[in-house]
Amino acid sequence: MVNEAAWRQLHDEFKTKGLTLVAVSKTKPFEDIKELYALGQRDFGENYVQELTEKQAVLPSDIHWHFIGHLQSNKVKYIAPFVHLIHTVDSFKLLQEINKQALKNARIIGVLLQVFIADEETKFGLDEKELADLSDNYLAQKEQLKNVRICGLMGMATNTEDEQKIRSEFSRLHEILESLKRSHFAEEAHFSICSMGMSSDYKLAIIEGSNMLRIGSLLFGKRDYTQ
Ligand SMILES: *Cc1c(COP(=O)(O)O)cnc(C)c1O
Repeated sequence: MVNEAAWRQLHDEFKTKGLTLVAVSKTKPFEDIKELYALGQRDFGENYVQELTEKQAVLPSDIHWHFIGHLQSNKVKYIAPFVHLIHTVDSFKLLQEINKQALKNARIIGVLLQVFIADEETKFGLDEKELADLSDNYLAQKEQLKNVRICGLMGMATNTEDEQKIRSEFSRLHEILESLKRSHFAEEAHFSICSMGMSSDYKLAIIEGSNMLRIGSLLFGKRDYTQ
């Protein structure tokens, strides 16, 4: 069972504000995705390669699948034929592999660079130095990377009740996006996505400039990892 009222409220608000709602359906059954699809939701986010490929195979083909989990290079090939946007690029090697698999599939795959903004060791992502290095490498080898399109940045705030802290982390990600746009992506009009905000902190993310929200439990209820 999905929370239809919550979906309608988010959908209407985001539509007015020009924001993209990614419904995070990890661990949730096909039926839940179909329910939201029937209401009009088209962007869905998944964290695990195998779960994503299983769902993609049977669900409607016009769904935009977002990959938002940690991605290993050797698994890119399984999602390259269909994935819409990969939010979690955290190395140049991974970017090169996505390009290679996109080329094999005669596609251009959109990606976001994942930036580490929280102070939790469990979270993934590039620090600012690594982000600058990756962007330098990309610019230097752009001609060989025509099958990836870097569309912006993604980040996760610290899991805390401290709203000031969350806001300052989101605000920093937005600043990094703006400065990277000037320094490395000035010629690339599509470099504009700021993917930040989940069920617990999406309101703060919007205040700080998010334009893509990844929301799971608010729409689908709490996840049960014990099954
Ligand atoms: C699970 C997950 C979400 C959604 O989290 P909720 O708290 O359920 O909204 C968003 N982003 C990422 C990267 C996730 O792994």
